[in-house]
Amino acid sequence: MCGIVGYIGKNKAKSILVAGIKKLEYRGYDSSGLAVIEDGVILCKKAVGRISELEKVLDGNCDESNIGIIHTRWATHGAPTYKNAHPHVDCANKIALVHNGIIENYNYLKTKLQKNGHILKSETDTEVIVHFIESYYEGNLEDAVRNALKEIEGAYGLAIIHLDEPEKLVAARHGSPLIIGIGNEEYFVTSDVSAIIEYTKNVVYLDDGELVVLTKDSMKTTDIDSLPISKRIEEIQWDVNQVQKSGYEHFMLKEIYEQPQTLRDTMLGRFTTDNSVVRLGGLQDKCELLRSINRSVIVACGTSWHAGLIGEYMLEELMGMPVEVEYASEFRYRDPIIEKNTMIIAISQSGETADTLAAIREAKRKGAVVLAICNVVGSSIARESDCGIFLHAGPEIGVASTKAFTSQIVSLFLLTMHLRQISGKATDLDKELVKKLKEVPSQVQSIFNNDKKIKEISRIYKDSSNILYLGRGYNYPVALEGALKLKEISYIHAEGYPAAEMKHGPIALVDKNMPVVFIATKDATYSKILSNIEEIRARGGKVIAIASEGDSEISKMVEHVLYIPETVDALTPILSVIPLQLLSYHMAVMRGCDVDKPRNLAKSVTVE
Ligand code: GLU
Repeated sequence: MCGIVGYIGKNKAKSILVAGIKKLEYRGYDSSGLAVIEDGVILCKKAVGRISELEKVLDGNCDESNIGIIHTRWATHGAPTYKNAHPHVDCANKIALVHNGIIENYNYLKTKLQKNGHILKSETDTEVIVHFIESYYEGNLEDAVRNALKEIEGAYGLAIIHLDEPEKLVAARHGSPLIIGIGNEEYFVTSDVSAIIEYTKNVVYLDDGELVVLTKDSMKTTDIDSLPISKRIEEIQWDVNQVQKSGYEHFMLKEIYEQPQTLRDTMLGRFTTDNSVVRLGGLQDKCELLRSINRSVIVACGTSWHAGLIGEYMLEELMGMPVEVEYASEFRYRDPIIEKNTMIIAISQSGETADTLAAIREAKRKGAVVLAICNVVGSSIARESDCGIFLHAGPEIGVASTKAFTSQIVSLFLLTMHLRQISGKATDLDKELVKKLKEVPSQVQSIFNNDKKIKEISRIYKDSSNILYLGRGYNYPVALEGALKLKEISYIHAEGYPAAEMKHGPIALVDKNMPVVFIATKDATYSKILSNIEEIRARGGKVIAIASEGDSEISKMVEHVLYIPETVDALTPILSVIPLQLLSYHMAVMRGCDVDKPRNLAKSVTVE
């Protein structure tokens, strides 16, 4: 959440900072601000609302400086107001700081600072940091930052400048992502690589507890006690086109339509030519370890948690492995039972989800093996796990996850197949399953032919107050995902349930005004779900069915049918979720919602 960009170098900072922060606007968009050093002062400009508001304030201002920091906020402490917007400055207006994260002991620190005469102007947790740096400052910014950080409990990614040291930018990380971009006579700081790939592909990922001092032509990384740390320069694989809308009205629509390609990318290079072996680079050399696993716990949040439920069904059905799926936020605060041969599978698109990161740390502390399924190479979860699978789905900018979800399902399927192989469970069926998997991208493509019909259905139901989503078996998590997608971007109240469960409560809500989306494909639970449809029909509910191509029976029972191609049960969710993504998208657009930046939400939840 929130975006940070910092710049120091041979070029003018403002345009680089603004271009960078616009790429991160999807991570927080309630207010923004910039600080540069110019004409012997710290110039700090802020605005409430979207970054376009800040651009208006910056017009004709802050043009000359070669150093600066910028921030887009996702408020945790204090309303999204002008005074709470970052950057925050000290009493003397000499230090400016931007922060991503939460300072947990800020109340205590605030009282301490106020007793010592500091005037704090905002309601944020962040502001205490800049005042502590001020109180420790004796002519060297990094020393003051180190001392201030020793007072602080919580999570932070920070970028800081000081008027008296105009050729220095200091950044520090603990718990919130921070990346340094290396240019030619210039350095960048960012919380997300998409802000800087236009300028450089060479980056250094800071680790927790690290602090970096940048000048135009030098970079020095140390720990909090000033011990030098040597860092590896890595190359970003994403390119600039992937972070642009490329003619689509919204990133979400672009990402929905990208799925045939992103699914292929997730599979690329991961099979031998005869489909007999699944090869996963991130699990190479881990066969021995993986063979010893006899139970898995999947930890994730939101959409990734839904992918986790599908993974549970796959691993149980095809591997015979006991699996539990946990909300990462619950897992970490219980006393979860981790035995010697338990594997934690952590799923997170960004690889920075704070709750999931905390969950894997807890699991590792208890001795578990951690396997990560992430999209972002170099992310914290990827780096802290023992092994993993990257989605290779390209940057996901739309706040509502779409392409990452389907690539997560593919990754879980690849994992299941790999585990079957290394444990000697593979049979002729495996080749068949891989063949089916390879057909999925073009099957997804064919579903887009229904988009016009999906739009028509969206128009009929866009003013609904409630929508119910029901599915069974592998399609139950898809029902949850369909409902989540709808509520996050259209603000229509929606709930997903296992179809049979509706008799135990939700059916009370059904009347002629209640649309019910059934995912009723021809799988093992098909005949049961037809009975559930009848039960809804008997109460006047309007049914939209997602059904298997060629199922003419169902069309007689329901108001609308959206057909999807047939595949094996385990892969059906990749197809059945597509019409639901489009349904949410169209309804939200028709209701005038900003689908890429839904209210109160932000991409990549890096705070607890
Ligand atoms: N906790 C800080 C605030 O509320 C930072 C939030 C963010 O990461 O945007 O201002």
